[in-house]
Amino acid sequence: MTDETKGLVLAGVGGQGVILAGMIVADAMVRAGHDIKQSEVHGMAQRGGSVFSHIRWGPGVDSPLVPRASAEVLAAFEWAEAIRWVDYVREGGAVVVDLRTIVPPGACDDRRNWTTAYPGIDPELFLDRQLKTRLIDASSTASELGNIRAANSVILGTVAAFCGIDDSHWEAAIESLVPRGTEEINLAAFRAGREVADAQAPAATPSPEGFAGPHQIDINHSWCKDCDICSRVCPEYCLAIDNNGKLGIVDSDACTGCRLCELLCPDFAISIRPPMAEAVTTNG
Ligand code: SF4
Ligand code: SF4
Repeated sequence: MTDETKGLVLAGVGGQGVILAGMIVADAMVRAGHDIKQSEVHGMAQRGGSVFSHIRWGPGVDSPLVPRASAEVLAAFEWAEAIRWVDYVREGGAVVVDLRTIVPPGACDDRRNWTTAYPGIDPELFLDRQLKTRLIDASSTASELGNIRAANSVILGTVAAFCGIDDSHWEAAIESLVPRGTEEINLAAFRAGREVADAQAPAATPSPEGFAGPHQIDINHSWCKDCDICSRVCPEYCLAIDNNGKLGIVDSDACTGCRLCELLCPDFAISIRPPMAEAVTTNG
């Protein structure tokens, strides 16, 4: 290991594309001429569990594990994972956070009066840490481009601003690793994320209230076969099959964004979006 070795942590939950994003980072670094080492943990990924990847790069890297307070960048694909991993970023490093929240079922608001344990979105948590912070809505950006599954490329676009290699290496890595036929949308998503990173920091502290509110439930009725799986698993009773046998939203305000419905829908007919749409930057 040399002093020039740098580290990046990617953290999210199963289904968010953390592992693919890690492969793209590693590939881009190799294309830029770096030695790299990568490590990942994804034991419960298929069940919506935590997934993270450590990547270190430089002239000669001995270990893949990023020590605490040393990462150049943290890419958090979800709010709670940002809080969990922020201590790994060095002073003056960067934090890129997708403000999407994924509330585990055990931390839901549930009408049986369980107490939610999911942390509220509060950008001020990062403001006193001397970190370059980019709070983004990668899911909405990717949806507007045509495929919510490109949200990980939006995040990578913002992350790229802090990694010190040419964008051409990132784009070549994306083209070679994303699923066939999605190259263009993932490149567009990467460039959209890059624009967020380059945006000027606002003078004012962002207001946490701007990120509060219920999640948006999108049902694609042309794909939905009204099988009733999602409404039966929803811990907040947001969904129901009506008298005509059609799935509908009965209480959108109660949605916590746990994504159980999205993860268990066999037809990819339902998706959940976070309650905000604007990107926020702090500390330059
Ligand atoms: S699980 Fe999917 S297909 Fe079944 S009712 Fe829900 S959205 Fe429709
Ligand atoms: S609608 Fe979906 S994301 Fe919202 S609380 Fe119900 S299962 Fe969770």
